[in-house]
Amino acid sequence: MNLVLLGPPGAGKGTQAALLSQRLGTPHVASGNLFREAMEKGTEWGKKAQSYMEGGALVPDQVTNAMIEERLKEPDCAKGVILDGFPRTIEQARALEGILAERGKKIERVLLIRVSEDTLIERLSGRRTCRRCQANYHLLFNPPQKEGVCDRCGGDLYQRFDDKEETVRRRVRVYTEETAPLIDYYRHQGLLTEIDGEQGIEGVRRRILSALSLSP
Ligand code: AMP
Repeated sequence: MNLVLLGPPGAGKGTQAALLSQRLGTPHVASGNLFREAMEKGTEWGKKAQSYMEGGALVPDQVTNAMIEERLKEPDCAKGVILDGFPRTIEQARALEGILAERGKKIERVLLIRVSEDTLIERLSGRRTCRRCQANYHLLFNPPQKEGVCDRCGGDLYQRFDDKEETVRRRVRVYTEETAPLIDYYRHQGLLTEIDGEQGIEGVRRRILSALSLSP
């Protein structure tokens, strides 16, 4: 199954994509994670993306599409993929259709996780991310067992530079202007399912599984 998780930063896409990936055994491909890994390793993708990410802007489509295409060519993506944070523009959505069509595939569902602006500011300001495996936590709603340490891999937790309030506001604006048009784009194709993202992690997970007709 090829699935897209759509929604503003802080909606819970990464958390839910990771859970769904475990449930379905399908890789979780997050464009933001790929860019952060590339920055950490100092690769070309990372160098190209850095200034945009720091300002909370979108990395140009050409760069993002090429990076995603490279990832989707890897053998683990052959049976399906859970995309998180990609596509973020209509041009990226069209590029994705092309990449999948070349392999005789298409997007089966797009899940839009809806949350209010107040909720996402609250979630992003308390978010902590693992430096090593990029798992996400929240200081209040989903704390790690040991402060500052990732439950999954033991890596250090840090606050992403773009989770600072001013950059968060910019990212939300960018979502409204550049990414929200994808809602109608996918609705017209009959692919969109809306999920109420205001619940806790488990509540949202159950709604997603039910939308996909999967047992909890
Ligand atoms: P995220 O981890 O999804 O919140 O993404 C963090 C940052 O990475 C974004 O603010 C953008 O600068 C960049 N980024 C991630 N995905 C994309 C994308 N699909 N298109 C353009 N830029 C992206």
